[in-house]
Amino acid sequence: MATDVNPFESLQEQIDDAAAHMDVGDDVLARFKRPERVLETTLSVTLDDGSLGTFEAYRSQFNGDRGPYKGGIRYHPNVTRDEVKALSGWMAYKSAVVNIPYGGGKGGIALDPKEYSLTELERITRSYAAELRPLVGPDTDIPAPDVNTGQREMNWIKGTYETLENTTAPGIVTGKAIESGGSEGRLEATGRSVMLTAREAFSYLGTDLADATVAVQGYGNAGSIAARLLEAEGASVVAVSDSSGAVYDENGLDAGAVREYKTETGSVTGYGGVEERSNDDLLTADVDLLIPAALENAIDADLAEDVEADVIVEAANGPLTPDADDVLTDRDVYVLPDVLANAGGVTVSYFEWVQNRQRFYWSEEQVNDELETVIANAFADLTSAFEDQDLPNFRMAAYVVALRRVIDAYEQGGNWP
Ligand code: GLU
Repeated sequence: MATDVNPFESLQEQIDDAAAHMDVGDDVLARFKRPERVLETTLSVTLDDGSLGTFEAYRSQFNGDRGPYKGGIRYHPNVTRDEVKALSGWMAYKSAVVNIPYGGGKGGIALDPKEYSLTELERITRSYAAELRPLVGPDTDIPAPDVNTGQREMNWIKGTYETLENTTAPGIVTGKAIESGGSEGRLEATGRSVMLTAREAFSYLGTDLADATVAVQGYGNAGSIAARLLEAEGASVVAVSDSSGAVYDENGLDAGAVREYKTETGSVTGYGGVEERSNDDLLTADVDLLIPAALENAIDADLAEDVEADVIVEAANGPLTPDADDVLTDRDVYVLPDVLANAGGVTVSYFEWVQNRQRFYWSEEQVNDELETVIANAFADLTSAFEDQDLPNFRMAAYVVALRRVIDAYEQGGNWP
């Protein structure tokens, strides 16, 4: 794993590469390569044993030209300022790829949630929410779940914000539980867009998803739901992994049963007496479709040389280094980028926010239908750019489409001051 690759530099390289295919000056481009502002703060929280815990926490507001900053909050020991900046940029371009009226933001706290009790996590989350309060709001910056956060944390953030503001404002965060103003379909949305993107890609390439074998790296929310939905499309999920290792069955695993096993035991390894492999073996498995669904930099240039999959659909944010992208482009491996493939999460966040503002709620069927339309339209925009401008790969196509939308919004607004 290429852990030394700085994700913020990867983001900037992706933007530069796309801009080389566009008519945009370096002076204007500079604005779209850096966040507008970053909050870096230290949370001080009393722990259960009475000692004081201090935690590095961030919120990066990358770009707000197309709407409120939007993006998740990550709890992970490796959270850094540069990682959060990169993730916030990917959010800005993701919202533009799927054409929803948001900018990009991201937050994070450097901690391993497994090391803290429920009450400690609640106090840490409320402390973070209080720090965020001057920056966020349903019209300014709208957090959501990301790695190791979910409905529970979003409900706490909403509660803290509403108490401090003496109001009700369900649209302050998305990814809430249904009873707290969440949307049907939001929990599954990231995995669903991975499946929808794979379906569009296989049909575009003239191959049948129902005959495909699939490997999934990372078996959290996005990876496990994508696996289950791909299985429902007829594909065979032959390998899945998490940080403990990989399990493999050439006859196909039962994606839902592996998820239940992981929920009970904490990991996928040990499941059902099937073959176990290393994480690198999973990434280079001889499958039709590979889904990296864990963290950044999972595949570097060296590993990319050994990838056997024909198609990669990125469920994680930034799982390929830019050098890996070059290798895979040269090797004619089709990569469907994160900013399209995992955009279901933010898209259904947008639907949740619309429902919160209208205080009128949709059925799961309506949510899923609207999501399908958004992903199909975005895929069509991306393939048009790919073909019309003869771009090297789908990531470049996504960035060309997205950058154009963000830059147009900025230029139409005029310069200030
Ligand atoms: N954290 C998710 C992502 O990376 C969802 C963000 C959101 O719903 O705002 O896209």
